[in-house]
Amino acid sequence: MASASSPVISPGAWLGLLGGGQLGRMFTMAAQSMGYQVCVLDPSRNAPAGMVANRQICADYADRGALEELASLCRGVTTEFENVPADALAWLAARCRVSPDAHAVSIAQDRMAEKAFMRDRCGLQTAPYAEIRTAQDIDAAEDTLFTGVLKVARLGYDGKGQRTVANRREAAQAFAAMRSVPCVLEKHLALEREISVVVARRDKSDVATFPTAENQHANGILDLSIAPARVSSDLAQRARGAALRIAGELDYLGVLCVEFFVLAGDILLVNEIAPRPHNSGHYTINACVTSQFEQQARILAGLPLGSVEQHTPAVMINILGDVLQREPDWERLLSRPRVKLHLYGKTEARQGRKMGHITCLGRSVDEALETAQAIRAELTAAAPVTAA
Ligand code: ADP
Ligand code: MG
Repeated sequence: MASASSPVISPGAWLGLLGGGQLGRMFTMAAQSMGYQVCVLDPSRNAPAGMVANRQICADYADRGALEELASLCRGVTTEFENVPADALAWLAARCRVSPDAHAVSIAQDRMAEKAFMRDRCGLQTAPYAEIRTAQDIDAAEDTLFTGVLKVARLGYDGKGQRTVANRREAAQAFAAMRSVPCVLEKHLALEREISVVVARRDKSDVATFPTAENQHANGILDLSIAPARVSSDLAQRARGAALRIAGELDYLGVLCVEFFVLAGDILLVNEIAPRPHNSGHYTINACVTSQFEQQARILAGLPLGSVEQHTPAVMINILGDVLQREPDWERLLSRPRVKLHLYGKTEARQGRKMGHITCLGRSVDEALETAQAIRAELTAAAPVTAA
């Protein structure tokens, strides 16, 4: 694992990446711009990261032959999504440097393990919840958990694998519809806002948090991120402190995102963690001295972190497949000189699929937000009604 005492992997060497999505694509670009060669392991052809990587191994993450090939080529391997089998990471770790490690990834993969870890190990509050393994667990759940959100413990993302349930009957129906896989039943909370913090940690003496982002979701998918978050400095500090605590308790090496819920009265709850760069940290590419992806590459290579200083207020909006059903007026959109376009090279613009993002920079957060809202309105107006 990378630490201050691990030898530096010099530019020119190969770095490996499990997963070929957009997070991997932006990691690949950042690593390449520092002179590294990147090999992506992903089962699908035309993977966004595979397209830009120096090489792609097209195979399953559990394929031993493919892992062997990756380990023999690369001095270090990282991941861009949390659902890679933790034992693939453990297997690789016996052969080359791996960050983050299998332990941290396995906690983030399971909402039950994650919530218990936050509460018991980190002393942090989460939303009230119950573990649901059987239909009887729903009968036994506290009344106060309703209205609740039933979430599959593993493999959920972008609001998939979760359902709002008003009572036990609806919870039982939802649980059956989810094929009775292990779930958590969380109390549905009146959120004042959602915020997140991205941590970069090379070792315990080289660790930094990016400025807190404020996140707005639509249909369970991140729609817009405002950085810095419009919250008190006390709340932002508490969020950064909690994120550092989690990274420290995990002895985490790499880039980690912590999502929080904020309730009235600035009550801060941990929602979930992601053991990788995060959608709410995309603003760092254009608004910070060092992006979250460059930090991931630096940590893997055993190099010091870059500055996380934010030099410009920013608002990021996601571009989903919905708005690309029709070609946006790119010229008009980019006629604003502080707008930065990032598209991930995905050919099929499915509804709800993340196709790219736009970062709007401004002299103030308000100015950036105004630009973002104008662009959002333009994109939505251009999209056909059927795609809404
Ligand atoms: P995912 O893995 O899909 O991101 P999350 O648990 O983060 O799953 O849920 C996605 C979004 O759904 C959250 O960011 C929040 O907007 C909403 N949400 C989830 N759980 C709750 C809850 N208990 N109360 C209110 N809103 C919630
Ligand atoms: Mg989430």
